[in-house]
Amino acid sequence: MLCLHCGHDEQSLGPSCEDCGSYVGYVADGRGYLPQLKVLDVALREGTVSTDEAEKRLERASGALETLVHFMDECGQGLMTLEWDDVQQGTLGGFMMPIREAFENLKGLVDQLDPAGNWSEETWSQLNEAQTQVQLGSEGMSMLTQTLAAVAVEKGVDLEQVFAEPEPESE
Ligand SMILES: [Zn+2]
Repeated sequence: MLCLHCGHDEQSLGPSCEDCGSYVGYVADGRGYLPQLKVLDVALREGTVSTDEAEKRLERASGALETLVHFMDECGQGLMTLEWDDVQQGTLGGFMMPIREAFENLKGLVDQLDPAGNWSEETWSQLNEAQTQVQLGSEGMSMLTQTLAAVAVEKGVDLEQVFAEPEPESE
């Protein structure tokens, strides 16, 4: 998970960035970037973070989410090159599209966040809703990848290539 504070790509399961010590949340709790956004919201209210700094962090969050959307697209394309039948293709699409949409939706909400802070309760409930969709989608994806792994073994396909981790965007 990307540390929105320093831009370090944190590989541990949390809760702190190993580079700058900022709170990044727990990877396993499925809240994604929301804990970091919450910290930012509080810091803005307390005036400990400047609008410029907030803008930078929001851009990092947006960029990270965009990377995930691209990653979904690349996975989709990678999977299309494998020879699945129509039913399998449909199943894949059924799992992948909702999570892609969820990432895109969340990115859209992050893009709309005012770097000056004072995010409304409604904004937070939209963010929470979007994150919940991401989490549900992720659960579907992990089920799917397990199923795919089994099918891939049968077909002699190297799934590691299809589901290679996205390269973190460097600045
Ligand atoms: Zn950091």
